[in-house]
Amino acid sequence: MSEFDLIDLIRARCPIDRADVRLGIGDDAAILAPPPGHELVVTTDTLIEGVHFPASTGARDLGWKALAVNLSDLAAMGATPAWALLALTLPQADRAFVADFADGFAELAAQHRVALVGGDTTSGPLGVTVVVHGFVPPERALRRDGARVGDQVFVTGVIGDAAGGLACLERRSPYLLEASADARAALIERLERPTPRIAAGIALRDGATACIDVSDGLLADLGHIAERSGVGIELDAWKLPTSSALLATFEESERLVLQAGGGDDYELAFTAPLDRATSIERDLARVGCGATRIGSVVAGRGVRLLDAGGGEIVLARGGWNHFA
Ligand code: ADP
Ligand code: MG
Repeated sequence: MSEFDLIDLIRARCPIDRADVRLGIGDDAAILAPPPGHELVVTTDTLIEGVHFPASTGARDLGWKALAVNLSDLAAMGATPAWALLALTLPQADRAFVADFADGFAELAAQHRVALVGGDTTSGPLGVTVVVHGFVPPERALRRDGARVGDQVFVTGVIGDAAGGLACLERRSPYLLEASADARAALIERLERPTPRIAAGIALRDGATACIDVSDGLLADLGHIAERSGVGIELDAWKLPTSSALLATFEESERLVLQAGGGDDYELAFTAPLDRATSIERDLARVGCGATRIGSVVAGRGVRLLDAGGGEIVLARGGWNHFA
């Protein structure tokens, strides 16, 4: 298979068509027509084998995840996704692998009507870079720098599952309980098939003061909001929303490390004034998303995890940092 056969294969399997794509895959560059009166929101993320995903990850899951992690960044900005570019580096021209990868990518792209408009195909160690574009009404994007002292801190869904899934795959945790196979499979599914919170991000444009997606770990990611906003954050450890699968699989002490320090959940963590909590919860419920109040924004800096008595919990492991 040549590079061009692979590109044809990918194009055929990613059939989303949009009127705002004037010229898609096949020329030197794509020509796109952003909707008048909107701002363009653009982001990119790379997944490298052995760093961002284990070599055991299936091609289909990888295709899904490569798009999901990028759409999650658009979700955190409150943007509506539209277009994607895919730069694929492959050790060999493996037709079956590329077909499965494209199917996983296309499955999620179809859910959000994202058109694949171009990319690059090269040979080398397995790696995927995706670029996504979305839109927001002028000055309505969610940012990291808007948290104010007195705001409450929330997170969508449940957290810790993806890190739990990774620990199950690697069987490295000494704290693994004798959980059912179903519970473990549910955690691994959260790791390999994350759901970008697109509708929740859009719903939050009305009420949130700051927002981020949880990719590196709750403490690390909320640390970015704290830093960019010039505030401190206090989290109540016992309020962190927990799935029954995580409860069944890990002892309490390890669970907290996974929930506060583990990444890859792709939930949204956000801040908002207390008096907006009810309307925010209603807006999120309308798009099928739960949210939990987990702490508050305080004067100062950094993120502190507190126990029920108000004492600080210091975790053995923090969030993920490539160069630490
Ligand atoms: P050029 O050499 O001009 O950069 P390429 O031969 O790399 O063009 O790509 C040909 C066309 O196929 C371009 O429109 C490019 O955007 C698209 N393309 C290449 N690789 C991919 C890919 N992995 N996914 C989607 N489109 C791709
Ligand atoms: Mg090229």
